[in-house]
Amino acid sequence: MQTNYLTFRKEAIKESFSRTPRVFDHPKDEKGNPQKVSDYFGTHVFDVRKMKEKLPKDTFNRLMQTIRLGKKLENDIAATLAQTIKEWAMSKGVSHYCHWFQPQTGLTAEKHDAFLSFDEQKRPVEIFSASQLIQSEPDASSFPSGGMRATFEARGYTAWDPSSPIFIAEGAGTKTLCIPSVFISYTGDCLDEKGPLLQSIEVLSNKATELLTVMGERGALRVITTLGPEQEYFLIDRAFYAARPDLIMTGRTLLGGQPPKGQQLEDHYFGSIPERVKSFMAEFEMELYKLGVPVKTRHNEVAPSQFESAPIFEEAEVAVDHNQLTMETLKRIALRHGFQVLLHEKPFAGLNGTGKHCNWSMSIVSDTPDLDGTNLLNPGKTPRQNLRFLTFLVSVLKGVHKHAGLLRAGIASSGNDHRLGANEAPPAIISVFLGDLLNKILDEIASSSGPVKDAGEQMLKLGVAKLPEIMKDNTDRNRTSPFAFTGNKFEFRAVGGSANPAFPVMLLNAAVSDGVGDVTARIKAKISAGANLDDALLSTIKEVVTETKAVRFEGNNYSDDWVKEAAARGLPNLRKTPEALAQMITPSSMKLLTELDIFSEHELHSRFHVRVERYVKNLSIEVDTLKLMVDTSVLPAAYGYLGEIATTVKTMKEAGRSLIPQTEILGKLETLTDTLLKRRKELDSAYTKVEKTEDYVKKAELLAREVAPSMDEVRAVCDELEGNIADQYWPFPKYTEMLFIS
Ligand code: ADP
Ligand code: MG
Repeated sequence: MQTNYLTFRKEAIKESFSRTPRVFDHPKDEKGNPQKVSDYFGTHVFDVRKMKEKLPKDTFNRLMQTIRLGKKLENDIAATLAQTIKEWAMSKGVSHYCHWFQPQTGLTAEKHDAFLSFDEQKRPVEIFSASQLIQSEPDASSFPSGGMRATFEARGYTAWDPSSPIFIAEGAGTKTLCIPSVFISYTGDCLDEKGPLLQSIEVLSNKATELLTVMGERGALRVITTLGPEQEYFLIDRAFYAARPDLIMTGRTLLGGQPPKGQQLEDHYFGSIPERVKSFMAEFEMELYKLGVPVKTRHNEVAPSQFESAPIFEEAEVAVDHNQLTMETLKRIALRHGFQVLLHEKPFAGLNGTGKHCNWSMSIVSDTPDLDGTNLLNPGKTPRQNLRFLTFLVSVLKGVHKHAGLLRAGIASSGNDHRLGANEAPPAIISVFLGDLLNKILDEIASSSGPVKDAGEQMLKLGVAKLPEIMKDNTDRNRTSPFAFTGNKFEFRAVGGSANPAFPVMLLNAAVSDGVGDVTARIKAKISAGANLDDALLSTIKEVVTETKAVRFEGNNYSDDWVKEAAARGLPNLRKTPEALAQMITPSSMKLLTELDIFSEHELHSRFHVRVERYVKNLSIEVDTLKLMVDTSVLPAAYGYLGEIATTVKTMKEAGRSLIPQTEILGKLETLTDTLLKRRKELDSAYTKVEKTEDYVKKAELLAREVAPSMDEVRAVCDELEGNIADQYWPFPKYTEMLFIS
């Protein structure tokens, strides 16, 4: 009997049910009165308010200019800054600092150094110099580089990115000053996720500003990318997590039968939040508030034990940092409550997966108060503003249509493969949902006959002038769309729950930059040919709407009909990660990303290889874990129960009984066990091919084509066995046990 595992599973159930919920402890001031969120929001961030208060006026003004205009920090203000930051940090009990960066592991990295140093008299002192603030040299050899750094020159450095605020990370009684940084090799190649994102923001800003200028809008200093990533997650009791090697090793359950009750009752979505979870959420949000992360919304999601946290949107580079902090804080605080957070895109088969809906738009930075903060995807009050809205809208359509394959590559991962293309998540086909009314207007513009002559009049006729009122009532949503317009922003819904949003958002920025550039060139050409501005704008809109019609889809993205129709429209349908990633290095993607100076060819290839390698490694770990679970737990459980039944049958036969009901289950168990052994061997031989293949791209293809389906086959028998073996023999916590937090 599997007494070890058995006790483990039953004990996990006992433990999870006997937990006393931790009650949220409200932060209090010195007098013991409860504090408001606004009292402690950003206390751990060296934000603009603190900069203004603590820095000399001139230093402050120059730093603000640097940040606002997205410029590089000048060295001579760094010394004053470093000194001021050190004093602030030490007053908060900080002893160490680190350059906090985002290598291509999907996670963040940090290496802590103490402020401690010695002066000339060998007395201990705390030092934090300008150069320590600006630059650091972690040993780069252990981070993925896609073969870009040979080990003999395994050197890279991190450099502070002043557009992201410095913060203090707290944990287990320690406090560390974190300096958000980009990560670069000594040969100048970028090695992280933030660098390319920053470059894409800059490029999009330049292109969008130029388009605004062409449209006669002169007050825009730059255009920023705005981002609000909604983070979904699962919460399960940590005792169950500890008893599931698959969750520990891979973040998802590699086997597990369906619970009798899943999400069919639809009783979880927006339902009341369980006490234990509420207390966890309050504490996790408090920690984020201290870090200046503006989390706003919390609710239950569709699947049991699934939840969401959404922030107020911010500038994309800051939102990306804050999303990383959100994921880390979720995991960290969950432990205090006896929970494990799962961010994997598909932790439980048969239930909704986990996405990170990336709400995205563009916004003007200006010295003119009326213009500053204008959202370019917000329909305006005047026909002119609506023309601007439509111009930017079709630029997005153009970029997304032309680079749909590349955008698909941006969301490709082994985890997201279980979400995309499956029947309950955005499909692997990138299309755009605009909503009925906007769609109708675009169709009318496209079908209006003849060349555009009087744009003003046509706009009136088409109802474009009334856009804002129309949009306000336009509450239709399409939850099946991978990329949906939601009134004044796009929602890139296909991004995976565990992904660093920097990569997909960078690619989106690049695609849209291309669209904006294309649209600008056409408008300019029309004006040079004698058209007036409005006519040039409207006729360009008309052209682009017609060209991009194929990418617009309002129907059900989950239906099989759509798959056929998308194929007829020529839209790529890239089901699995290897084929999706291949889009990164097509001539079109290569041209786009090198021309925009986001990557060199060399960098792009290396990035492609890093992602392919990660896919191969993730799948290999899954295969090994599944084999281990089958060999050391599932098969022994089957043999154990089989043995017991066989003995009973034998005894009964010997006793001369004619009616032996156990015979039936004995036969069934024998067949299932036999099938499992067979499929287990098939998995082995499929995987052996991968091991014998040198090339990572080929390995990835084999894994997707042969190994992943073979794993599903193994799983299917295991799940059937789970439903046929006496409960006391089953080693792993079941879906029924893990998923219903009370
Ligand atoms: P829902 O999509 O559920 O209706 P909201 O419209 O409030 O909810 O927004 C969802 C997310 O989109 C939030 O994180 C919000 O801050 C973000 N968001 C709203 N406007 C913008 C914008 N202009 N740019 C980027 N994100 C935005
Ligand atoms: Mg939303």
